[in-house]
Amino acid sequence: MTPLSPVPIRGEARPAISVVVPAYNEQEVLRAFHARITPVMEGIGLPWEVVYVNDGSRDGTLAIMLELQAADGHVSVVNLSRNFGKEIALTAGLDHAAGTEAVVVIDADLQDPPEVIPDLVAAWRRGFDIAYAQRRVREGETWMKKATANAFYSFMQKIGGKVQLPPNTGDFRLMSRRSLDALLTLREQHRFMKGLFAWVGFPSVAVPYDRAPRAAGTTKWNYWKLWNFSLEGITSFTVGPLKIATYLGFATAVFAALYAMQLIVRTVLFGNPVAGYPSLLAVVLFFGGVQLMTLGIIGEYLGRIFNETKGRPLYITERYLPSGAAWRQTSSDPAGVQRAPASGTSGAIAS
Ligand code: UDP
Ligand code: MG
Repeated sequence: MTPLSPVPIRGEARPAISVVVPAYNEQEVLRAFHARITPVMEGIGLPWEVVYVNDGSRDGTLAIMLELQAADGHVSVVNLSRNFGKEIALTAGLDHAAGTEAVVVIDADLQDPPEVIPDLVAAWRRGFDIAYAQRRVREGETWMKKATANAFYSFMQKIGGKVQLPPNTGDFRLMSRRSLDALLTLREQHRFMKGLFAWVGFPSVAVPYDRAPRAAGTTKWNYWKLWNFSLEGITSFTVGPLKIATYLGFATAVFAALYAMQLIVRTVLFGNPVAGYPSLLAVVLFFGGVQLMTLGIIGEYLGRIFNETKGRPLYITERYLPSGAAWRQTSSDPAGVQRAPASGTSGAIAS
């Protein structure tokens, strides 16, 4: 484990721990979230910051973030130019996390209780690079969501190969600076974060907790999104479906050959009665379907190759306001990705 050095650098202290919070239309919960995270982080006793990422919200989320940033030196705000989706918003937050020792990833909706963070920190202090929070119960989620989630993870487990995804685990976790730096070298467009976290490796440990229902607002998930999320997970971590297509093709070819042989033998022995039109149609349609499906699978991979080859940046930052920095609103405030680290958290450091 990296030694902790919360000593001020040149009279200023950079945050040791950054808490990264992606938020999309979270105006109902953001203030409550901040009120709950503050005492928790103060209790840890290391300089900290919370990085709020506004993922193109259509409500007052950004205004609340700016308000919090103006009032509290621990707050840093990353405003994306539009909605990029949670995985990318999270990446943007991790890119801008100034924490020198560790970073915590947490949802804004209070489903991940901030009170678990000290446990994550304790696990990290015991020497683990990654401490991921593992749900004991899933309150406020339908059995359908639980069942589909379980099915997805057991499928991923079977075909996932070397990268094993821990079950009942979301993005809520703590990562050491070195494992974060490793994660940030993965710049793929299709970001299946749970898979990326697992891919990075490093000593990891599960910290059990009870997941709460959403405090307010509504989930941005639906089954279509969940399906796409699963597709993302599967296609970015395994070429299994392509293999399945190969074997399916092979199996049907073998079956067709056997069937043809049987037809020949029967014709030789018993003559040729009129073949059934409906069965012919059924077979044609079946193989038409199998071929289209296989093309679709290839297409899923091809489309992803297409997206990756464009080499676009993952996101565009509209503005970045570091925590505790002497930020002034000026007309020359540059847009674009600013990687300026938070410089000092004057007067706002937990002692
Ligand atoms: N989120 C985001 N961008 C999006 C959708 C969601 O940043 O396009 C954030 C959201 O504000 C929340 C977290 O990601 O902090 C998890 O979202 P949600 O609670 O809707 O997902 P669930 O908990 O149902 O998995
Ligand atoms: Mg949620």
